[in-house]
Amino acid sequence: MSSNIVVAIDGYSSCGKSTLAKALAKKLHFIYVDSGAMYRAVALYFLRNNIDMSDHVQIAEALKNIHLNFHSRDYQTHITLNDEEVSEEIRQMPVSDKVSAVAAIHEVRAEMVCQQQRMGKSKNIVMDGRDIGTVVFPHAQIKLFMTADPKIRAERRYKELLPTNPTITLEEVFENLAHRDYADTTRKESPLTRADDAIILDNTDLTPVEQLQFALDRVEPLLV
Ligand code: C5P
Repeated sequence: MSSNIVVAIDGYSSCGKSTLAKALAKKLHFIYVDSGAMYRAVALYFLRNNIDMSDHVQIAEALKNIHLNFHSRDYQTHITLNDEEVSEEIRQMPVSDKVSAVAAIHEVRAEMVCQQQRMGKSKNIVMDGRDIGTVVFPHAQIKLFMTADPKIRAERRYKELLPTNPTITLEEVFENLAHRDYADTTRKESPLTRADDAIILDNTDLTPVEQLQFALDRVEPLLV
């Protein structure tokens, strides 16, 4: 049996999962995997290549042609799609508007889950997403389920996007988050839901330092 540690972090859109996951991985010297970036990169490929999402032959063909790689630099997500760095582009609104529909496709999930499970096979990792504690790593030693007030989440994401997208509005961001939460929690394939053994972390009133401490208090006892 493998003895590596997996920390699974799930939760709603923009509630600070990746901020916490990165900080935790950095502190513990674990590998950080942003599973959302994988779905975003697939959505970008689908957009660029006009993949018909109702055509299973096209989808299967597309998945064969998609090669994703993470390059870790100071615990930031750097992902390549067929050797092209797409980390910036996958955060922009065209991808955000499409990603939940792409992530609801069975074949897409099957392929991503397989790649994610491979990454967590023998190394200590922190992975964030929507189905990490329920589907990808149901036996993860630590599962956190994150949530925060929707208005606060929209404001945080808006501030993050503004430097690269000065015309974006807070309403647009709020709508996108609400739409993705709805799609992610109601889809047939691996909907976003809290695993029975996941610890709830509501960070509405927590600073990044406080939420990191909350997680460390739960993970560190496993390391001794
Ligand atoms: O985490 P992030 O917000 O970047 O994820 C983008 C989208 O990818 C989510 O809204 C969701 O539709 C999908 N996703 C998923 N399963 C995961 C991670 C992300 O369905 N494990």
